[in-house]
Amino acid sequence: MRIAVIGGGISGLVAAYRLRQKLGDEVDIVVLEQSERVGGVLRTGELAGEPLDLGAEAFVGRRPEVIELMGELGLDDQLVRPAGKRPLVWAQGAPHPLPGRTLMGIPSDAESLRGLVDDATLTQVATEPERSLSWEPGADVDVQTLVGERFGRQVVERSVDPLLGGVYAGISAGIGVRAALPTLATALDRGATSLTEAVREAMPAPSTAPVFGGLRDGYGALLTALTAAAGARVVTSMAGTRVARTPRGWVVDPLGAVDAVVLATPAPVIARLLHYAAPVAAEAAAGIELSSSALVALALPRDTALPDNSGILVATGEPLRAKAFTLSSRKWPHLAERDVALVRASFGRFGDESPLTWSDDELIAAAVADLSTVTGLPITPLEAVVQRWPGGLPQYAPGHTERVATLESAIAPLDGLAVAGAYLHGVGVPACVAAGTAAADRIVTSLGTRGV
Ligand SMILES: Cc1cc2nc3c(=O)[nH]c(=O)nc-3n(C[C@H](O)[C@H](O)[C@H](O)COP(=O)(O)OP(=O)(O)OC[C@H]3O[C@@H](n4cnc5c(N)ncnc54)[C@H](O)[C@@H]3O)c2cc1C
Repeated sequence: MRIAVIGGGISGLVAAYRLRQKLGDEVDIVVLEQSERVGGVLRTGELAGEPLDLGAEAFVGRRPEVIELMGELGLDDQLVRPAGKRPLVWAQGAPHPLPGRTLMGIPSDAESLRGLVDDATLTQVATEPERSLSWEPGADVDVQTLVGERFGRQVVERSVDPLLGGVYAGISAGIGVRAALPTLATALDRGATSLTEAVREAMPAPSTAPVFGGLRDGYGALLTALTAAAGARVVTSMAGTRVARTPRGWVVDPLGAVDAVVLATPAPVIARLLHYAAPVAAEAAAGIELSSSALVALALPRDTALPDNSGILVATGEPLRAKAFTLSSRKWPHLAERDVALVRASFGRFGDESPLTWSDDELIAAAVADLSTVTGLPITPLEAVVQRWPGGLPQYAPGHTERVATLESAIAPLDGLAVAGAYLHGVGVPACVAAGTAAADRIVTSLGTRGV
């Protein structure tokens, strides 16, 4: 039996690994990856002679998927936790504490915003429960419209956008409530009488468990262990170009006949691959857009007096080019032990891809200048590394949940075909691990039904 996995990011690699676990050694699993390396937007590079993640650098540790996977792969000793410091927001040319007690920056009370927004906005937030809210159950709207109407523009630009910019490389105008904030949509559907009430209902229960986790040597350690455990034939520098159904299974160009196939590429590629085999699914996938970003990692002298915060997020409308800084040496105790201070600067938001066209030198100069502005320090990097992520993150626009439901129901009758990826049910690494696992389950079930 032969199974193809197209796309060697975390979603595809997890699918390959789960297929190996469930189907045993006899199955020929082939991972087709168009670039010269596996991992997709997970990449551990090197800075100042030591490993550093240049894509994702953390995962939500309250979800079990990554921690369980690390355990299965013998990587328990790689699990690291952040120091628990809070980020700052750079707004109106000054640093402010990131508001607490929010749902992705949407406040549950006015007090948490004091100092970040003006008095009129504080009053608008405090009195929001007094104004009636109209919400059609099942409706979807972009986050900017909902939060802007109820709490005002300053809350959007200074509290919500900086957080959404981090997760989706997008801004609230292009992100839908239902897909990005499902618990909030549920609270609104249930009849919350104000946004404040809905946010309070939707916020996760207070917990002392650490919110995030990471890997001591970076995600590269997970990719290496996962690839080995999958025991797949990994064919790099080769793109899957088309999939078509045959009486006995599938044909994948340019690989040939297979019994089953997992598509684990970004959504626009899914749209091309499925153009003939599943046109309705292809059309739904084509409606999911991507945003691009670039990252500059800086190694600074160890004694650089960076603020004692995990990062600095930049509000919309500030005259800076960077959208966020991760103060990696402050955020992660294991990185604080290094001989240099580490900072990651991020650039690029949906709709503004210009930073991707800048040269390495221009990106590094912008990172240094903007970091100097937000910290008030002279910044003299000892070393720097640049990583671009064209199309690295899907945008969960309004209507996203429906698009995904259409895609999934269109492929449901197609035995031996499954999809996985960040565009389905969450962009975070845990959601991608879950998507890869679900895709493998679906293939195993359909092969069993076919008696293969
Ligand atoms: C800068 C950045 C920072 C992030 N930070 C975090 C974080 O801290 N925590 C977190 O949880 N998440 C983070 N994310 C999100 C998370 O990393 C991604 O959503 C996740 O890794 C996506 O995995 P994937 O396998 O679905 O897709 P991808 O990683 O995009 O993998 C898809 C693969 O398919 C390949 N491919 C494309 N077309 C073809 C083709 N025709 N044939 C064969 N192969 C093809 C691509 O080359 C790629 O390797 C971040 C994302 C970015 C961009």
